[in-house]
Amino acid sequence: MTESVMTINGEAVACEGTFDVIDPATGAPMGSAPQCSPAQLDLAMQAAQSALEPWSSDHESRRKAMHEAAELMRGSAQELGPLFTKEQGRPVAMAVGEIAISAAWLDYYADLELPEKSVRNLPDRTIEVSRRPVGVAAAITPWNAPILLAMWKIAPALAVGATMVLKPSPYTPLTTLALGQVLAAALPPGVLNIVSGTDPLGRQLVSHPTPRKIAFTGSIPTGKRVAVDAANDLKRVTLELGGNDAAIVLDDADIDRIVEPLFMSAFANSGQICEATKRVYVPERLYGKLVDALADRARAARVGSGLEPDVELGPLTTDFQRDHVEDLVREAKAAGATIAAGGHRLPGDGYFFEPTIIGDVQEGTRIVDEEQFGPALPVVPYKDLDDAVQRANATMYGLAGSVWSADVDRARAVAARLMVGRVKINTGGLPSMEAPFGGVKWSGVGVENGPWGLEEYTDLHVIETGVAPR
Ligand code: NAD
Repeated sequence: MTESVMTINGEAVACEGTFDVIDPATGAPMGSAPQCSPAQLDLAMQAAQSALEPWSSDHESRRKAMHEAAELMRGSAQELGPLFTKEQGRPVAMAVGEIAISAAWLDYYADLELPEKSVRNLPDRTIEVSRRPVGVAAAITPWNAPILLAMWKIAPALAVGATMVLKPSPYTPLTTLALGQVLAAALPPGVLNIVSGTDPLGRQLVSHPTPRKIAFTGSIPTGKRVAVDAANDLKRVTLELGGNDAAIVLDDADIDRIVEPLFMSAFANSGQICEATKRVYVPERLYGKLVDALADRARAARVGSGLEPDVELGPLTTDFQRDHVEDLVREAKAAGATIAAGGHRLPGDGYFFEPTIIGDVQEGTRIVDEEQFGPALPVVPYKDLDDAVQRANATMYGLAGSVWSADVDRARAVAARLMVGRVKINTGGLPSMEAPFGGVKWSGVGVENGPWGLEEYTDLHVIETGVAPR
């Protein structure tokens, strides 16, 4: 059993209360995490507030500390990888990869500056516009990619001179807590505080009087509650929420070539990626071939404990997520859908579900209309491309999407019509650090990454200078 500590003001802090963390591959407890008390949360907030002035006023020290933190993080990846897998489920190589790549965000932001802008420069009047750190930020993360999503918040906030109190998901707190201790060796006390607890602690972070900014990644229903709670105190928010991303296959696509990247865009991390492909629209002519090819690929996928070598897809992270996927598949089947591959949970106590391809299904069925966030993919035929675009857009989700075609110009024209934050063409690749990532409609407010992600931790500040009175 792995026991863990919080990081408050640079110190390792234990709690009287703890809660169990489950290994999704076995369904058994694998560790315990501290349940932060209200008094400990106050201490974390105070520490972040006290660290704010010295941290924000010395850019060069920030830069150095962040590069050092990145180095320490890379060095910890091999050791923390198995812990990540044991609480989250993904294959250990992917876990190590997520930790290592997340460190690159610290390096990137350490060197990214927001230039001051002069908007008027006349002999009798100058106006300069700059951005100042927003203050203390509270960050809340989900269980599907706990380290990357934490770093999308930590790195820009710290780079701009803000300080942070971060709470990971109660389902996957351990790697984030361990990382807090690793980073504490490079960062001054109070700059980054990591606390853990069950869902009500998230609400306490949002409602606490100290933070001026809430950075939240999670589900749409929780995101809406966060927005309401933050509004009571007019805190700034970034909300990165759920998606129901459509992949639109064009009639010139080569199915043999796209099947692998399209499959992985939907099934990597067992489908538990906010911008995974969650429904596929394919021309009627290619429908049968695509369903067969995806079904063959799904049957060939190696499913098992992420600690075993050569496993491609681990378990779902929680039992309720597995049950949710199972319900959606069952409902689709009852409505007349065909299960071309998979369709069942695996025997045993782990939260495994077979990679599932669903045909003969369309809108009006929850597996098409809602976010499944798991390894079950509906494939929907279309007659007319305009109709497919209209159906892809006919939703309150608006995170990302993809277009698959042999003709990149045609694909770009379709991409321009998708009402989402990000469209990928012939790739399922993850967001990059240089480009803004965020959703429209119910998929979010604000963005992460790139200089735009840095600006989210700032307030604009204007200095206007006239002539000195004589
Ligand atoms: P969730 O909303 O249940 O929980 C997210 C976090 O919020 C957890 O840390 C939880 O403890 C906390 N929380 C719960 N209630 C709260 C409250 N009232 N106030 C403040 N915090 C509270 O989400 P989840 O199930 O952990 O994550 C899965 C969801 O996250 C999916 O919908 C997925 O699409 C989405 N997601 C979005 C992105 C993105 O960047 N857009 C990335 C990853 C995941």
